[in-house]
Amino acid sequence: MTIIIIGAGLTGLLLNRRVNADLILEEQPTIGGVYAFDKILDKEIPYVPPILDNPLYEKFEIRYKEYDTIIYYKKYEHYKDKICKNCDELPKWITFDNMKKFYIIENLPSFLYSLAKNSRILKEYPIRIDDKRIITNKGNIIKYDKIYNTGSYKRISKLLGFKNSSLNFLSSLVMLIITRKNNVKPWNVYISGDSADSFSTIIRLDDIFDEFEIYYIYSFMSFNERKIDSDRILLDLKRRQIINPNDIIAFRVKLISEAILFGSTSNEKIPYPIINCGRLGEWKNYNITEIISRIQSC
Ligand SMILES: Cc1cc2nc3c(=O)[nH]c(=O)nc-3n(C[C@H](O)[C@H](O)[C@H](O)COP(=O)(O)OP(=O)(O)OC[C@H]3O[C@@H](n4cnc5c(N)ncnc54)[C@H](O)[C@@H]3O)c2cc1C
Repeated sequence: MTIIIIGAGLTGLLLNRRVNADLILEEQPTIGGVYAFDKILDKEIPYVPPILDNPLYEKFEIRYKEYDTIIYYKKYEHYKDKICKNCDELPKWITFDNMKKFYIIENLPSFLYSLAKNSRILKEYPIRIDDKRIITNKGNIIKYDKIYNTGSYKRISKLLGFKNSSLNFLSSLVMLIITRKNNVKPWNVYISGDSADSFSTIIRLDDIFDEFEIYYIYSFMSFNERKIDSDRILLDLKRRQIINPNDIIAFRVKLISEAILFGSTSNEKIPYPIINCGRLGEWKNYNITEIISRIQSC
């Protein structure tokens, strides 16, 4: 039985531990999906902060840091609609609802490396799927008995001829900024519903480096609009006296196209043995805790 997993994000890599796939197809040059990382100032730092709402991961080799959640709210009553008018609710990873504490996974890059070790990952993506074979963008023909799709359901179902007009998403521009520690701030989460701010959510971590602090800044927009860019965000951060550009040591910017997902997958019956799993596969804003529970059963 040949098993193929599409996507080497957290879901694909964790699922692989259970189903022992013959091959993982990943379209990006790096593993980790949302949690891809980069070496900055000698540390491997994920582009997105891996925040847990509770530390229940003894069975995984995960280490975490604990923080008291101290939120600064600005026009909170407009926060949801500023980000997504058409969503029933926002994902938990930007609301911090009922989170007196939060936990950051410290060793996520090495955890991802250890999951990927001994698996065969091909940096390609399907351009055709029929009942027995996947044809990839690099012309490889891969026979399969079962596919676990953890990549975009919207795109895979389009390949299979379904329209899925009701599936929608917002993109997120995530800025990771490292600054000198200059002025102490009374918050580690900043939530802005103010439409004058291009950003909506900021997470500040001041203990990853001794001398520096890390800011993760999220801005959301529809994929076609793309009217927010890093220059505008930097200006707004300066105007609000959150980050002084002179204090910036390093920064990275990542656009996650399918970030906040809404609309539901219709009841179309995929004719082949394809199982959809994970946030993109099931088109649900799962957080890490929910992903870990989904991979046991999907
Ligand atoms: C901006 C953002 C911030 C988040 N922050 C948190 C947080 O702080 N805490 C938390 O618990 N959860 C958070 N989440 C949710 C969390 O990211 C997910 O629960 C988890 O990481 C999802 O992993 P995944 O593998 O399902 O998806 P992804 O990480 O999106 O990985 C999917 C992978 O599939 C690949 N792929 C997609 N389509 C194809 C294709 N056709 N062919 C080949 N490869 C393909 C992609 O390149 C990617 O590598 C956040 C999500 C986003 C978008």
